[in-house]
Amino acid sequence: MEKWINTQKTFYAEKKKRVYYLSLEFLVGRSLGNALINMGLMNEVTEALEQLGHDLEDLREREEDAALGNGGLGRLAACFMDSIATMKIPAYGYGICYDYGIFHQKIIDGYQVESPDSWLRFGSPWMYERTAFVYPVNFYRRVTSCLDENGNYRATWIDTEVVMAMACDMLVPGFNNDHVINMRLWKARASRELDLSHFNVGDYIGSVDDKVRSETLSKVLYPSDEIREGQELRLKQQYFFVAATFCDIMRRYLKHNDDFIDFPNQVAVQLNDTHPAIAIPELMRLLLDDHGLAWEVAWDICVKTFAYTNHTLMPEALETWSVEMISRVLPRHMEIIYEINRRFLEEVAMKFPGSKRKIREMSIIEEDGVRRVRMANLAIIGSHSVNGVAALHTELLKRDLFRNFHEMYPRRINSKTNGITPRRWLLKCNPDLAALIGEEIGFDYITDLDQLRKLEAHADDPAFQKRWQQVKRGNKQKLSALIEQTCAITVDPDSMFDIQVKRIHEYKRQLLNILHVIAFYHRLIGEPDSTEAARTVIFAGKAAPSYKRAKLIIKLITSVADVVNRDPRIKDRLKVVFLPNYNVSLAEKIMPAADLSEQISTAGTEASGTGNMKFSLNGALTVGTLDGANIEILEEVGSENIYIFGMTAEQVEYEKLHKSRTPLDIYNTNPVVHRIIDAIGNGQFSSGDTETFRPLVDDLLSEHDPYLLLLDLESYLTCQETISREFLDKRTWSRKSILNVARMGKFSSDRTIGEYAREIWGVEPGI
Ligand SMILES: *Cc1c(COP(=O)(O)O)cnc(C)c1O
Repeated sequence: MEKWINTQKTFYAEKKKRVYYLSLEFLVGRSLGNALINMGLMNEVTEALEQLGHDLEDLREREEDAALGNGGLGRLAACFMDSIATMKIPAYGYGICYDYGIFHQKIIDGYQVESPDSWLRFGSPWMYERTAFVYPVNFYRRVTSCLDENGNYRATWIDTEVVMAMACDMLVPGFNNDHVINMRLWKARASRELDLSHFNVGDYIGSVDDKVRSETLSKVLYPSDEIREGQELRLKQQYFFVAATFCDIMRRYLKHNDDFIDFPNQVAVQLNDTHPAIAIPELMRLLLDDHGLAWEVAWDICVKTFAYTNHTLMPEALETWSVEMISRVLPRHMEIIYEINRRFLEEVAMKFPGSKRKIREMSIIEEDGVRRVRMANLAIIGSHSVNGVAALHTELLKRDLFRNFHEMYPRRINSKTNGITPRRWLLKCNPDLAALIGEEIGFDYITDLDQLRKLEAHADDPAFQKRWQQVKRGNKQKLSALIEQTCAITVDPDSMFDIQVKRIHEYKRQLLNILHVIAFYHRLIGEPDSTEAARTVIFAGKAAPSYKRAKLIIKLITSVADVVNRDPRIKDRLKVVFLPNYNVSLAEKIMPAADLSEQISTAGTEASGTGNMKFSLNGALTVGTLDGANIEILEEVGSENIYIFGMTAEQVEYEKLHKSRTPLDIYNTNPVVHRIIDAIGNGQFSSGDTETFRPLVDDLLSEHDPYLLLLDLESYLTCQETISREFLDKRTWSRKSILNVARMGKFSSDRTIGEYAREIWGVEPGI
């Protein structure tokens, strides 16, 4: 806390530009081990606890994950906090302190069952309630207007319902640098007016009821990843945290300034996806209505202040809100959005005279059907920087989704390939590997990941390979024990650990993976004496509670597991495991134990991926498509050290249009594929029931399958056979594993944050 106070003081003393990272999600995980490592206290605390008769490992296992996020997007925000603290970037994270994080997943009869994650029921030692920082946030009702003394339109938002936002701070220590930054998460509290509103009518219970209702704003994280949520409560959450955050931003700015001329030189705001994009009309509202600036001046400040990160190309994930809802919940913001749009469309008409299509596509308002506000369009227009999260993703943004905007603002869209923090994803989760590397090349790599290159010199050294294998074997043994404990399945630590862990989504193609498992199963039955490498195929991941197909895919995985694991003909040559409740602390146990990392999304659908980086940094080889950051991993590690299969994004585009082959062609001509599909359809994994998995079989055989599973299946099966062969050659596999780790330098989130700092925020690392 002392270090945190000192850090905040230096921010004020230096009057430097500050960065505000706005995210509706922070998937932090546990903090104890991370804080001890970053502060260099691990040994002291271990010893102190021993003297008290406690084991630090046991204690660490008792900490609840702070799971305030769904998946990659929220985990990226958490990795960024670690890098920002380590690199001494003058930045804050801002978000919501949900009472309930991502749901807890149980598997019952092979199906996902959700229960609430009440992670704060006994409080959290890492959260500090700051009762001095409480701000009112307004909702609903109406806007009045008049002309001021200069004849300018002036609006006031009145008769509003008020919810209070209370600051809760989480301290994030940098690695070994005495620097501690602040993550400020807002909690909703009822306003005093609410307490009194029912007073006169004597409706005591009613007043408590309203109070409870207003506090539901920060109650629960929406559990859908890459699917938009249309509920009013979600929009209110977004505005709630944006409005409270801007109270803080304005308070700090106005301490040292009487006008707004210098605002963009002192404040940078990064929007993590469009979730906080309502911040754009909010800043306009503050500058126009509260501070009386002219529109043009206010707009110039806005664009220079904001930057927007896009995380997905999937149309079903792009946020839109009905005009009706925004008009009702945030009436003044709707007026401002209309005015932003009016002025912007004038610009479009000047730039592209006569193009009705451009006007229709680029408008913030979607006009066909119920009128809706396109948050991505608002975010692009209101930001000076729009970034994709990997090279391919950014190219596809420029070429397809945001083509018109790229034509209009050719310098706005840029690429910032995602990264992961090596503190959590190597040093903390894989201490034995981190120590082995350190013995060989020193420990500077922890804050300068490019130094891992020095390992290349040891890749062929048999003694080093031996120690490398021993570390992996130890990690696999630990994971085996966990699997035994949680799933009652015995697995062989000498088998290949073939792992796919991530949110369950059709585009990520867990189904493709299970098709290979079935093919392998059939092959083992047909060839009882084959010497093919034994495999333990491990899955984990949550499905959005409303996502039927994803839940059915979980049921198929668990059903295949039941059949395969019980089949006496298979012995220990194949085991299938679904580990329940994938979260950050489970990921930390899984990554160090992987031999093979499955990154098999349809090319052009996974924006970046970060799971791919965690695996590789821990010595797993990747089997993957040319998608997201896989492409950049290939460029770094070299084609001989990664297993690439399947269509390119361009080929996917082409096939969708021209359908040169259909899934039925493949089913009818390839007997292996035929057998896999029939096994699912005929009930081999559902006790003869042919209905349960019918929807999946229909999807697979449909020529409209948007994810083209069967079109990639043959190439995937061939690639997996190569992998099976090569895994048996321990020396070559170890060499590849070492080279993967040696060449992961690029994927440190320190590199990513350095690029954001210099190229978007205009700040320098290191105060
Ligand atoms: C890294 C991580 C993710 C993202 O994984 P992808 O494979 O990139 O989708 C999701 N959830 C958790 C818990 C993670 O640690």
